[in-house]
Amino acid sequence: MIPSHRQRPALRFAPSPNGLLHLGHALSALLNADKAEALGGRLLLRMEDIDVTRCTPEFERAILEDLAWLGLRWEQPVRRQSEHFDDYRAALDALIARGLAYPAFMTRGEVKAHVAASEAQGLSWPRDPDGAPHYPPFERGLCDGERKARIAAGDRHAWRLDMGRAIEACGEPLSWTETGDGETGEIVADPAAWGDVVLWRSDAPSSYHLSVTVDDARQGITHVVRGLDLFHATSVHRLLQRLLDLPAPVYHHHRLILGTDGRKLSKSEGDTGLRELRRQGLTSTDIRRLVGL
Ligand code: GLU
Repeated sequence: MIPSHRQRPALRFAPSPNGLLHLGHALSALLNADKAEALGGRLLLRMEDIDVTRCTPEFERAILEDLAWLGLRWEQPVRRQSEHFDDYRAALDALIARGLAYPAFMTRGEVKAHVAASEAQGLSWPRDPDGAPHYPPFERGLCDGERKARIAAGDRHAWRLDMGRAIEACGEPLSWTETGDGETGEIVADPAAWGDVVLWRSDAPSSYHLSVTVDDARQGITHVVRGLDLFHATSVHRLLQRLLDLPAPVYHHHRLILGTDGRKLSKSEGDTGLRELRRQGLTSTDIRRLVGL
């Protein structure tokens, strides 16, 4: 039997066009391509360009060129997040309507000052798996009138998930199936570790967590292959999937390629950039070898 389009395994590579690709991206892209082929599945491409100030068409063009040079073939069209803000807004509105998201007015500086003041008193402040302090809980309880008045007055705000309520609304414990290079098997999700995550940024539409969750569902992604740095974020994605009634893909978080200083590669590191390596005469076969494939 020929599987229907929706049932066919589907994978995606999802770079942000805010810089050039490096060896870490190459590993991710090639693993996606290899797995898609092994599963007889589709390979999709998504430009994660919600930050329209840092993402540029030039970087997007360069990424497409580098991926083609690596030997990747992907389905058209490429999904561009900046073309789907209405979709993310609808998801946010659904969460707001259920009382699970609230407008958050504190600036980064105010949060920092508050956390510092409380730590100065010897109180420990919870931090998320990336080490960032949880957002202070004060605005969860603002009444509707006050929220509306502040928004009407033009007060700059983000929208955050009320994590306590969201977990309660979800009802049962969440987990995901993991096949990657870290812990594998059925992983228990721990969204509470993240506190009240941002769903809609104050300086850009949507957020990573919201748009990645919506997009994986819209693109029919069955297998997410990405770096281990996003392993813990999967807890948030599973929670949003459940709240928005979206299917859960299988996850494969792969090892990271580290720089000589032992840190994650950054887009500004010329010597591990694919452009630079190509300029030096390396081939895509050399890149495969360099990333250990
Ligand atoms: N856009 C993210 C990045 O470039 C990847 C997000 C994901 O794969 O979920 O790191």
